[in-house]
Order: sequence, then C-alpha cells, then structure tokens
Amino acid sequence: MAPTKVLTGARVVLPTGTVDGGRVIVDGTRIAATAPEEAETLDASGHWLVPGFVDLHNHGGGGASFTSGTADDVLTGIRTHRLHGTTTLVASTVTGDLDFLARRAGLLSELAEQGEIAGIHFEGPFISPCRKGAHSEELLRDPDPAEVRKLVDAARGHAKMVTLATELPGGLDSVRLLAEHGVIAAVGHTDATYEQTVRAVEAGATVATHLFNAMPPLGHRAPGPITALLEDERVTVELINDGTHLHPAALRLAFHHAGAARVAFITDAMDAAGFGDGRYMLGPLEVEVADGVARLVEGGSIAGSTLTLDRAFQRAVTVDGLPVEDVVAALSANPARLLGLDDRIGSLEPGKDADLVVLDADFALRGVMRRGEWVVDPQLGRSVP
Ligand SMILES: [Zn+2]
Repeated sequence: MAPTKVLTGARVVLPTGTVDGGRVIVDGTRIAATAPEEAETLDASGHWLVPGFVDLHNHGGGGASFTSGTADDVLTGIRTHRLHGTTTLVASTVTGDLDFLARRAGLLSELAEQGEIAGIHFEGPFISPCRKGAHSEELLRDPDPAEVRKLVDAARGHAKMVTLATELPGGLDSVRLLAEHGVIAAVGHTDATYEQTVRAVEAGATVATHLFNAMPPLGHRAPGPITALLEDERVTVELINDGTHLHPAALRLAFHHAGAARVAFITDAMDAAGFGDGRYMLGPLEVEVADGVARLVEGGSIAGSTLTLDRAFQRAVTVDGLPVEDVVAALSANPARLLGLDDRIGSLEPGKDADLVVLDADFALRGVMRRGEWVVDPQLGRSVP
C-alpha cells in the first residue's frame, strides 16, 4: 500500500472557495479528511491544487482517433489527455455509417467498463447538412428515434451524450427518447431557429454542443439557437477555448450570460492534440493540421481542435481574465454533474476520487494525479517522517 500523501502549502480551490496554504490528503485512490501520523508530506507551496479536468467532448489525441483506432490506440489518446490534466474523458465519435458506429460503441463501452473512459458521445450522424462542419455529408441522416435507440443500445449503458440537429424530422422525438434513457441530448451542428431551439430544450435537451460553432450566428432579428441556449437555465453550454474557435469576447459573453455554473470547457480534440502538425483522418475526411489548427483539406472547415484542457485553463485565466474558481467549475464540477458523477469526481472533497491537477503560479501544468497515482509527478518537496 502506498503511504498516505499530504499535499501542503498550496492554494487549493475547494467548492466553497480558495484556501491559501491548504492541504489535501490522499489515502489510496481517494481524498481523505484526516491523515495518519506516518503520512508522506509533499510541499506544494507556490502551486495551485485544482480538481482533475473532465472533458465531455473529445475525439482523440496523441495521434490516435476514438472513431477509428484500435482499443490500444484509444488508450493512447486517453493517456495523452491525462498528461494534460484530463482525469475523466467522454470519448466522442464523428459521423459514420450506423453499423460502423454501433460496432465502435461496442469497443468503447469495453473501455468504459474498464474505467478508462466515462462514456461515449455520438456527434453525428443526426446533424444538419447545412452545419456539417467536419462531418461527411453523404453519411448524415435525420434523427429517426429508432436509429438513435440503436446507437444507445449498442453502447450498453455507456452512451452519455448524443449531439443532434433537433429541427430535423424526428429531432424532438429523439430528444425525448434520449432524456427518457438518461442520455444527454445536445443541440449542435444545427440550423435551427430560436423558436425551434426553445422547443428542443422544452423536449429535454440540456447541452449546447460547442456553442457558436456549427450553428447560425446570433442576429438581432433572428436570435437563433445561441440565444435560446444561453437564456435557458436548464442548458449547459460547451465552449472550445483554444483561441481559434472563439474570439475571447464571444467566450466572455457566453460565460457572463450563462454564468459559471452553466459552462463546460471542452477540447473537441482530434488526433493531433498532444502530437503535432501534419495530415490526419477525421472519420473518412482528410484534415491538415498547421500551427495547431486543424482544417479539412477540402473546403477548409475547422475540424476539431488540438486543444488540451490544461491550455484551456491557462487561457481562461490569463487571456480571458476569468476567475480561477469559475474556470474550475467549467472544467471539473459542471461536467462531472452533467455526467451524474459528481458524487465521485469534480471537486476536492473527502471521499471523492483523488483526481487533481497541480499548476504553477502562471497556471502551467506541473502535476496530475488520477485516483491517487501521479500521472505527471510534480516533484514536490518531500518529507517522509
Ligand atoms: Zn466534436
């Protein structure tokens, strides 16, 4: 048994606020309330301790794709993001043939059963051809509830979220079906009007898939889905904070309007995250990554990101000027709550999994602990009595 670890001296972001010179006790895989005498003490002075990050929307990393790779490839992607502080990850697929996606769900649900991922997010094929982004147009389909059901069933209880264009035929019935099955219905890749989006939320949609991206812009006579999703208290909005997908002012507008409790920062990462520039496949589509920006070779649409959540954190504080506590909510507590996992993860509290991130004074990542084990060892000052 590893000795109990006591991390001392850090600025610790707790659900109740930030504590200077706080301490976090790690006993086995969990956070504990009290430490035994023989505990190992680690001096984390000058650092921040925040909960591990939870990514609701992530297609891959480290050169590997969650839509096409082997189980080992998928693990490579997961581990790449863990090195950047993402201790909980929902694996997202891109549009594919329905039978192919059902088989993918089988492979990914095994990884969910092994505790490697928190579940599966199907992004497409039930999305709008008008707002398809980096999804293959010929494979798109209307959201027939029977087909939505087929994917949910193939995930064996691990389907967490389905992104769909709710204005398409069968859209609202599909939202109701997902809500009944405890799967998040996310409005996205949509060409809906404001009024159509209001109806989707009434039917049970609770997430906006990368708000602003792949949906009509906000107009003063046609407020569109962005306004409908921002103004309804029941909706959490995903934001991709990589500096490419959103202008910082648009991000701040959404953050301030929705409030910190209704934002989830996501990566929407593709294979190149944590890997490098070059040519990649996103599902069947070819993508060129240059200077960390992924675009379709044909047409030039932005094709996911190369973001990792540690960078999203640092940007949110240092570029966007958001309070650290709000950023922690958007990266940990809110997505954990959406996934129904807030009894186990999402905050630094006794009894929860010891998932935490160590940041330096400039908010650069220095350490990552997942379930009590260092994924990235911060080499803190040690004293073992
Ligand atoms: Zn995506």
